Amino acid sequence: RAKANGRGGCEVFDHVMGAQAGAALQLEAELREAIANGELMLAYQPIVLLRDGTICGFEALLRWRHPARGVIAPSTFLPVAEETGLIRPIGRWVLAEACRQIRLWQNEFPRESPLSISVNMSASQLSEGDFVDHVEQVLKATGVPPASLKLELTESTAMVDTERTVALLHGLRALGVQISLDDFGTGYSSLSYLRRLPIDTLKIDRSFVSGLEANPDNRHILETITMLARALGMDVVAEGPETAGEVASLAELECGYAQGYYFFRPLEPAAAAAALLAQNHRGPGTPLR
Ligand code: C2E
Ligand code: MG
Ligand code: MG
Ligand code: MG
Repeated sequence: RAKANGRGGCEVFDHVMGAQAGAALQLEAELREAIANGELMLAYQPIVLLRDGTICGFEALLRWRHPARGVIAPSTFLPVAEETGLIRPIGRWVLAEACRQIRLWQNEFPRESPLSISVNMSASQLSEGDFVDHVEQVLKATGVPPASLKLELTESTAMVDTERTVALLHGLRALGVQISLDDFGTGYSSLSYLRRLPIDTLKIDRSFVSGLEANPDNRHILETITMLARALGMDVVAEGPETAGEVASLAELECGYAQGYYFFRPLEPAAAAAALLAQNHRGPGTPLR
């Protein structure tokens, strides 16, 4: 179509491309400043025991409090962070900050099984040569018990270099850290990888949870995944239940854990602490709503 329109079409095209490249460059420059200025922050979304809604831990989710544009979601800036390598310093900050925070909450809200913290890992972080050492240092420095840390990676991240990933995950496991497979069901991995990768938890992608009660296909898929996970000794977290109907169906499927808006949205630290406090007052094992 650009050709048919002659030069005019091409100019429009160039202009759009130029604008996009310019926007990416500006985002990169601003992101560098954001790190230096402390504009990055973490939101904490509770992961609950489906049976009674008890908060077992949190997933740390990155936010950027931009001075002019307000709070920016990770999908807007993580691709640029990945392309520019900024994801490495950002990822290190996220891990340290999430561990610092969960240690405080573990002290304040002691449990028989201490509150856990889940942290997302990108492919470029995993490819850092000293990643296992780095994780070990952060755990030591923050005093977080290794078993309380759950590192999340997606199937596609795990598949970038499977041999290396298997070795790396075993290294992390040797520290006592847990591994979760995120967005499970959306990637390309074959089931044989589930056996080869040392995985503790499957997080079932929200696309299988949405409209679950009315969708027999999703129901069958979820039933199969939970059975498979149980057989392999893995925990299951259902991502993104939003309605009472979805939660009821998940409970029937004997899915152990859930993380979705029905229970809690990602919360600022003060709101997350308030949620923990409210549950303490209500007492353990009381149904949430
Ligand atoms: P994820 O790891 O799968 O995180 C879950 C996402 O689902 C979060 O989006 C969360 O806000 C959203 N979510 C949770 N419950 C519901 C629900 O009931 N309904 C709906 N519609 N959404 C729900 P968020 O915070 O925008 O993060 C998006 C993705 O960005 C994450 O997906 C993760 O892949 C990535 N990400 C976030 N923080 C980090 C980080 O610190 N490092 C890296 N490498 N990636 C991160
Ligand atoms: Mg995640
Ligand atoms: Mg996910
Ligand atoms: Mg996701």
